[in-house]
Amino acid sequence: MLLTGMWLPQNSIQLLGNYLKWLSKSEKETILRLMRLSIVLTVSILLGFGQVQCQSLGGSEASVNRVHQQAKHHDFTFIATSAQVERFVEAGYLVRIFPNQDYTLHSVSFPYARPEVATFLNRLGNQYHRACGEKLVVTSLTRPVTHQPRNSSPLSVHPTGMAVDFRRSRISKCRWWIESTLLYLEKAGVLEVTRERAPAHYHVAVFPRQYGEYVEKLLSRDRSDNKLSGPLRYTVKNGDSIWEIAQKYGSTVSQIRIENGIRGSRIFPGQVLTVPSR
Ligand SMILES: [Zn+2]
Repeated sequence: MLLTGMWLPQNSIQLLGNYLKWLSKSEKETILRLMRLSIVLTVSILLGFGQVQCQSLGGSEASVNRVHQQAKHHDFTFIATSAQVERFVEAGYLVRIFPNQDYTLHSVSFPYARPEVATFLNRLGNQYHRACGEKLVVTSLTRPVTHQPRNSSPLSVHPTGMAVDFRRSRISKCRWWIESTLLYLEKAGVLEVTRERAPAHYHVAVFPRQYGEYVEKLLSRDRSDNKLSGPLRYTVKNGDSIWEIAQKYGSTVSQIRIENGIRGSRIFPGQVLTVPSR
């Protein structure tokens, strides 16, 4: 108990005091050193726990500051008025967000966001809809400073167009899906998520540059995967059979037949076949 320093009840401290009276100086020093070590261990365990807490939905001052710093790194303007929103739309810094088959907008006064936020909405909305069967509900996007709610933080990034709010679902499966997905993306360093009360919603600050790079990486991986798994062109050699070719390239006899318009099993040397993968 002394070594881990997790818990030391009052009467054990008294017992320890009595015990220390009977010890030599060097023994006392050793015990005091162990106690100091246990305090250091306890503090580092608590700090470690604090770091885990950062990766949560609770929100914190540190998280608000991190997001504000990101807005500054991106050199984003904190849009002041609705007229300025219009100018940003005309200049192409903000894009119009239209509801689609995967998400709806609920009383969103300014349906505009940074282009990467639009990409994020399309991707997340589609995945959410497929995973939990309901549409995602967007409750806020860009908010100029003059239209911020009274209780909002002066550091809020809604005026930059990089933030989006989602209504919290009544279905626990949907809440679990969106919370784990957003925390995963937060861990990847592409956004910051906070679960807010009254009204219950998720506040997400997307980091446009990092998110854009993240999606580009995913897309280029998909492209190279497709190249590898695309249909193969095979030139038939003497003695080959459709069955052998299917076995060798992970296809099936019927797939090869359909793909190449072969009715029976006859193939001939020099014939070029398309071999689809399973
Ligand atoms: Zn928000």
